Amino acid sequence: MDYISTRGNVGKIGFIDAFMMGLGNDGGLLVPSVIPVVSEETLKQWRELSYQELVLAIFSLYTNGEIPEQDLKDMVYASYSTFRDPEVTPVRKLKDDLYLLELFHGPTFAFKDIALQFMGQLYTYVAAKQNKKIHILGATSGDTGASAIEGVKGKQGIKICILHPHGKVSKVQELQMTTVREDNVLNLSVDGNFDDCQRMIKDLFADLDFKANHHLAAINSINFIRIMAQTVYYFYAYFQVAKQTGARTVNFSVPTGNFGDIFAGYLAKRMGLPVGKLILATNENNILERFVLEGVYKPGDFRTTYSPSMDIQVASNFERYLYYVLGEDAAQVRALMEQFKSEGRIVISGDALRKVQEEFGAHGVQGEECLTTIKAYHASAGYLLDPHSACGVAAADKYSGEGMTVSLATAHPAKFGEAIELCGIEQPFPAQISALFEKPQRQTRVDGSLEAVVRELEAFYQ
Ligand SMILES: *Cc1c(COP(=O)(O)O)cnc(C)c1O
Repeated sequence: MDYISTRGNVGKIGFIDAFMMGLGNDGGLLVPSVIPVVSEETLKQWRELSYQELVLAIFSLYTNGEIPEQDLKDMVYASYSTFRDPEVTPVRKLKDDLYLLELFHGPTFAFKDIALQFMGQLYTYVAAKQNKKIHILGATSGDTGASAIEGVKGKQGIKICILHPHGKVSKVQELQMTTVREDNVLNLSVDGNFDDCQRMIKDLFADLDFKANHHLAAINSINFIRIMAQTVYYFYAYFQVAKQTGARTVNFSVPTGNFGDIFAGYLAKRMGLPVGKLILATNENNILERFVLEGVYKPGDFRTTYSPSMDIQVASNFERYLYYVLGEDAAQVRALMEQFKSEGRIVISGDALRKVQEEFGAHGVQGEECLTTIKAYHASAGYLLDPHSACGVAAADKYSGEGMTVSLATAHPAKFGEAIELCGIEQPFPAQISALFEKPQRQTRVDGSLEAVVRELEAFYQ
């Protein structure tokens, strides 16, 4: 399996090179040159696999034979050994036609751990094998940062710098990132919002000299490896729910920010998983809802919400989907992305829009609806949803009556105590989270300019 860019000017390159390149050198996003499709026979065999075995089966389709089997196996088992649930991503029944897929049993209590704990292993592996310096650089709306840091703190040959929007992540998210003591970790608290942080990261990766001179590596979902790792739980959840209910197709409702997680679901469907609708759940930052309903992709005003990890207007993975919905026409993607840069919007219509609406549902969940959903499921099912997972469930409810749906629970409620308190619900905090409040923090505040960020990075890389 080799990799190419959505803008047509990279490739074909191998798996490790794609992993290390992160953002395509032509400014596009890397995708597999051909999506691997699995047969019904293979799906039948996969039904009986453990989570880790399924990871290995799926990754093997993408790794191009570049990693010896035993090495890959060791990394996969190490990646999921820190998860608190033996099933890694268990499903729970909420109603007859609604299941929840719990993705928050990793070390930082959000779904980002599923891909990032593996990517931490893989970066460490490449650093050792190729005797390379690796400087991970990423932006976070809260959860990616903590998880990526957890995956590589103290690791030989690796430094990690994470930009987060100052004052716009939850207290627990901030503490998880900034209470880490290891010297290979730098947290920059940036005056601005997540889109500002992400834009700066993309600009730094697009500056190919800067990227090469400073050994930059990406952990945001611009990196295809993250998407690949996230396809696994769609398969796993499908098999569990199919076994329990006899369902043949399953819809997935996905709380979305950067279009990363839901794109992994789209990829799973293209690989042959019997997925019905992909329901795209947003909060008030609803550019993606408007895209699905109207075909217009145009950022609105940034809003601060109860679900900060989804406070994103410009969704980096949208370009991957655009590439597929336009029939893998890289020239057209390039033109549209240039138009987006100059005019600030992309409009699609006709057959392409019909295809989008066939594949996706969408619902933008307003703040009040988010809290009401948390309260309602706490009262009726005795289940405490975090505000992101609540957006997914509210969107799933909007589409109820269209068959079996699995809604993705992307974080543990203890990460978002602020919103849960507003619901008047008291929750016990896991010990690992309570302990954070006692630890000293380390972070550097910077103004929202690229120059300020570059200055800090150059000092850190010395
Ligand atoms: C990152 C995140 C999301 C959004 O995921 P995307 O891949 O950006 O769409 C949703 N919920 C939580 C808790 C997150 O951390």
